[in-house]
This record gives sequence, structure tokens and C-alpha cells, in this order.
Amino acid sequence: MSSSDPDSLVLTLLGTGCPIVDPNRLGPSALVRAGGQNLLVDCGSGVTQRLVQAGCPGRDIDALLLTHLHSDHVIDLMQLVISSWHQGRQRPLKIYGPAGTRKFTTALLAAWRDELDQRIEFECRTSVEGLELDVEEVEQGEIFSIGGLAVNAIEVDHRPVVPAFGFGFRFNGRHLVLSGDTTYCPGLIEHAQGCDVLVHEVFIHSQIRPSGGTRSSRTMENVASYHTLDDVVGRVAAEAGAGTLVLTHFVPPAFDEAALEETVRRSWDGRLRIGHDLCTVDVGGSEPPGIGQ
Ligand SMILES: [Zn+2]
Ligand SMILES: [Zn+2]
Repeated sequence: MSSSDPDSLVLTLLGTGCPIVDPNRLGPSALVRAGGQNLLVDCGSGVTQRLVQAGCPGRDIDALLLTHLHSDHVIDLMQLVISSWHQGRQRPLKIYGPAGTRKFTTALLAAWRDELDQRIEFECRTSVEGLELDVEEVEQGEIFSIGGLAVNAIEVDHRPVVPAFGFGFRFNGRHLVLSGDTTYCPGLIEHAQGCDVLVHEVFIHSQIRPSGGTRSSRTMENVASYHTLDDVVGRVAAEAGAGTLVLTHFVPPAFDEAALEETVRRSWDGRLRIGHDLCTVDVGGSEPPGIGQ
């Protein structure tokens, strides 16, 4: 169950919310640990605080995987870079992301260049490697394999955001799949066949209403069209034959859990977990995937 077990593949959901601010569910991000690697998936609001709470400060992240460049998934990237540097990071941060990632990170660093230069000079900082980003734009397929951990990018359907990825992690005979942001996506289901744990986003269509000024019915229709609805996500897990379905990226972030479970249960009778911030899942462990605080 612990990340110190060399044979385990451990997932920690860091933030399970969405752009709507909720103090209990921070922005989307997750930590995957296996084979001595600490991989961060996305960089939602509050990710650096959650990493410290999870016992893995940003300093110790080996690579960041970006599903796509929507603001709720990258908003705290600069905070991650700066806080990791203050935590003593002395190596560049490797980032794997979709086309456009390099343009985004170059502009982000440029916006902070003057502040960084002044700080480095005035504070007589000697190490600046921890402020550097090493970006690799990826396509569908295996991204890398290290320490027995193989990571795959899976193109998902989040149109008009193209490309957008989910990620698959295989380690020691275990298979974990994270959907990223997507509507019902046959390619994701194909990749996730027989996986131990499928972590999937969900748009709780039955519990969100148009709201004057910010969400018209047209807004709701369009947003729903590129996410996976609460009455569809169970079918995704069933068609994938997943061992356990873990839900995350809840829109809205405050909702009736029992009602959501009842909706998902109409098409999914396997193991189901409503994720929450800092819950941990031992993927494919000897016992059924456990979720602890
Ligand atoms: Zn998105
Ligand atoms: Zn999102």
C-alpha cells in the first residue's frame, strides 16, 4: 500500500475538483508512484500544497505529464516550478505534454523572467537548474519506460481541444489508466481493456443547472459535450472491463454522492470509488484496490 513498496503501483488523487472553486476539491492533478518514479499528472490549482500533504513535495517529482492545456490542468505550473526550487530542487523539470506545451511554457517563463533574474541576483542564488523546464511534446503511444514502469499517452476525445490525452501506466503486471478530460471515447476504452483501475472524469449532468450570467443552457450543452456524463461513465468502465472505477474531476465539485453512485450503478456493477483529494489507491495489490486517506 505504501509508495515505499518497490513492487507497488500507487496512485494518489491530489485534486478532484474543477475550475469551480471548492475548498474540499482542488484543481485536477494526480500523483503516480512506481519503480522509484514520482510522476505528476496535471497541475491544477493547489497541487503544490497537496503534494506536500501527500509526502512528495514538488522537488521530488521526476516528470510532469500534461493531459491537455486547459487552464484548470496547468494553472499552478509556475507555482510548482517556484515552490520546487525553494524546496531545493536542482534539476530541470521534465514535462511531457501535447503539441503546444512548449509554446505555453516558453511564454510562462518569459512572463516571469525579469522577476526571476532579479531574485536570483539579489538573493545571490547559486542553483538555477531547478527553474528550468525540459519539454517533450508527445503523440499517442509509449512515451517512456523506466524502472519497469511504462507510460502510454492515449488520445482521447475532448474536442475542440486537440490533442488531449489520457495516460496508461503499466508496472509489475498492473495497469492503471487515467482518462484525462474526455467524452465517451472508444480509443480510451480499447486501451483500458482489463485494466486494474480506471480513473475517469465525470460531468454530473443531473446535478448542475444553468446559472444566470455564467452558464446558459447552450454553455451547459457545449461543456457536457466534451466531458463524460454521470449516466455514461459506468458504461465506459463496463466496456473496458476495468477492475475498479475511480471517479474524479467532478463537475460540479460539490454534489450528492449517493445520487451520483446510484446513477453510475445503473450501468456498472463492479468496484466503484468516489474519489476525494488525497485518497490513495494501491493498483492491483494483493487485496482489492484500497483507498485510504
Ligand atoms: Zn479540459
Ligand atoms: Zn478539466
